[in-house]
Amino acid sequence: MTADFIPPAKPLLGEEERAAVDAVLRSGMIAQGPEVAAFEREFGEQLLGGRTAVAVSSGTAGLHLGLLAAGVGPGDEVIVPSFTFAATANSVALAGATPVFADIAPDTFCLDPASVAAAVTERTRAIMPVHLYGHPADMPALRKVADAHGLEIFEDAAQAHGASLDGKPVGTFGTVAMFSLYPTKNMTSGEGGMVACDTDVAHRVRLLRNQGMERQYANELVGFNARMTDVHAAIGRAQLAKLPGWTARRQANAAFLDAHLEGVATPPVRPGAVHVYHQYTVRLEGATGAERDAVVAALKDEHQVGSGVYYPIPNHRLASLARFAEGLELPVTERAAAEVFSLPVHPALSEADLERIVTAVRAVTKAGA
Ligand SMILES: *Cc1c(COP(=O)(O)O)cnc(C)c1O
Repeated sequence: MTADFIPPAKPLLGEEERAAVDAVLRSGMIAQGPEVAAFEREFGEQLLGGRTAVAVSSGTAGLHLGLLAAGVGPGDEVIVPSFTFAATANSVALAGATPVFADIAPDTFCLDPASVAAAVTERTRAIMPVHLYGHPADMPALRKVADAHGLEIFEDAAQAHGASLDGKPVGTFGTVAMFSLYPTKNMTSGEGGMVACDTDVAHRVRLLRNQGMERQYANELVGFNARMTDVHAAIGRAQLAKLPGWTARRQANAAFLDAHLEGVATPPVRPGAVHVYHQYTVRLEGATGAERDAVVAALKDEHQVGSGVYYPIPNHRLASLARFAEGLELPVTERAAAEVFSLPVHPALSEADLERIVTAVRAVTKAGA
């Protein structure tokens, strides 16, 4: 008998989302309006300790507009990890600034503060840590580097809704933070992003998302159309209400995998960190990329267990971004890119699914054989 395929991610859309969208459609007003305003308020209250949140059309737009709103541009360097989705460095390049890649810490996969400090030049304007896989970056150490050199911090919190460090939520550590609302993230609005920032920067993000105007036809600067629609905000509000329960399920699923997996190195959590497990990422220690890819293929083909590799090619080696990294070597990043894969951890997993994942990993890695 062939078991059902366990997908690596699964957006959960229910009656609440359908009813919320239907209500917006019935209102006849579907562009940015009261649903977006309510979503921003609720997101800020629930996840940011009351900090201002501004909704935009995608996470990438959020990072881009956040950098522009803070005045980052040509001549500025922003230090970013290479081990992340390309949107991190893309947003810096789109703002006209230069992404400078630093290495990661081997345990959390987030920026290594010592590597960041070594990358600082007289042009460095900011550091942009990514809270990768839902684990918070080492913000106290990065803040020390930032303060020593007069730098700002921009957080890429695309994968980390609800994560925190020493009780402080991600999204509250720097000038601007971005959360993605893409369908595979911990919560979704279809497409969308949320920008967390203080009120003066928030004013400029609001201008930039709407052709530079807050009052109609009183355009104050040259802006984009990066608005969120009320249809998307309605989905996002329904998802936000469910997020705490889903996060608890992700954490419980991760605890099960931590306790039972053999044959792979499980993801550690730093003291004081709350990990929200956007991904549950393990290492096949010492493996080449090809050996890791073979394990991923066998999990899928022989055991119907989906998994993903985030990210097989570090950003500094992508055709699009390599020009910012000539001669650069990032050994911890390279090793992670060869060794990692992410097992399903999403809230739709059953206990039987979790047991199948453990059995499949043991079989494929020949753990204990
Ligand atoms: C998803 C993601 C983004 C981009 O978000 P979009 O909403 O897809 O534009 C940026 N950074 C990281 C780390 C991401 O995972």
